[in-house]
Amino acid sequence: MKLKFSLILLVLAAAVGLLCAQGAPPREIAITIDDLPAAGMGMSGAQIVEMTSKLLGTLRDQKVPAVGFVNEKKLYKFGEVDDRIKALAMWPEYGFELGNHTFSHASLSRVTLKDWEEEVVRGETVTTMLLNQHHMTLRYFRHPYLDTGRDLETRRQAEAFLVSRGYRIAPITMDAWDWMYASVYEDARKRGDSALQQQLVSSYLSYTGQVFDYYEKFSKELLGYEPKQILLLHGNWLEADHIGELLDLLRKRGYKFISLQDALGDAAYSMPDEYVGEEGTNWIDHWAITRGRPPRNTPQFPQWVIDRASALPRSPGQP
Ligand SMILES: [Zn+2]
Repeated sequence: MKLKFSLILLVLAAAVGLLCAQGAPPREIAITIDDLPAAGMGMSGAQIVEMTSKLLGTLRDQKVPAVGFVNEKKLYKFGEVDDRIKALAMWPEYGFELGNHTFSHASLSRVTLKDWEEEVVRGETVTTMLLNQHHMTLRYFRHPYLDTGRDLETRRQAEAFLVSRGYRIAPITMDAWDWMYASVYEDARKRGDSALQQQLVSSYLSYTGQVFDYYEKFSKELLGYEPKQILLLHGNWLEADHIGELLDLLRKRGYKFISLQDALGDAAYSMPDEYVGEEGTNWIDHWAITRGRPPRNTPQFPQWVIDRASALPRSPGQP
C-alpha cells in the first residue's frame, strides 16, 4: 500500500515536471556589442579603457556572455594606440570573444566588393593576435550598418568570401538604436547634465521594450515561435553605465542569456533570406521580406532624440 502511494506521488511529480517543462519556454537571447574599441571617436584612449572595464565588469559579474565586433581602424589614434589596444585586449582577458566588423566600418553598398573584402582582411590583424593569446579564434563577422549588399549577387559573393575565410555571419534580430541615444547621452555626460541623461536612459529602455514587444510578436506570427534572439548593442557610455538596467528589463521579459554560438543553432538562422537593399535591417525583417510579408507599423523611434543627435556638433555615431 505504502509502495503504491509512493508510486502515485512519483507519477504525479513527473507529470507536474512535464507540465512545467511544456509551459512557456524561457526566452533566449545573445548579446553582441559592435564598433569596438568604442563607438564614435569622442573618447580618449584612457576613457575607452574606463568605459570597457565598466561594461565588461557588469557582464562578467552577471555571467552574461557577449561577443564584441571590432573596427581595427579605431585603434590607430596618435598617442592612444596602447590604451585602445589595451581596452580591446580586455575582452578576451575577461573571457569574451571578439569578431570582425571590417577595418573601417565599410558599407558593402558603398565600396566595391574587392575593396570590401580587403576591409575584412585588414580588420583581422590585432583581433586575431589578441584572441590567439587566449586560445580563441576569429570566427564571427558582423556587416557594418547591417548592410548585406544592394543586390543578391553581391550579397552572395560577399557571403561566400566570408565563409572561405572561416567566418560565420552574425545576424541580429533585436536593435533599439542605442547608438543614436549614446551620442546625445555622451554629450550630456560630458556637460554633467544628469537630468537629460536620465531622460535618455528611460526613453532608451522604454523604446527597447516597444521593439521587443513588436518583434517577439512578429517573429511568432512569422515562424510560429520566438527564435533565440540576437541583440545589437554598441561599445559606448550609455551601455557601460546602464547595461545592468537593460539586462534586468530582459530578465523581466523572461530572457535567459546565451552565447552567440548557441543562438545561431536556432533553425531560424538557416531560413531562406533573399533580403537586399542599402538600408540595413534585422533578420526578422529579412525573413519577412523574403516571404513577401514586410513588417508594418514598426515602433516609432522618438523624434526628440534624433533632433538632439542632429544638433550635436559631431554627427551621431552609426551602427
Ligand atoms: Zn557598426
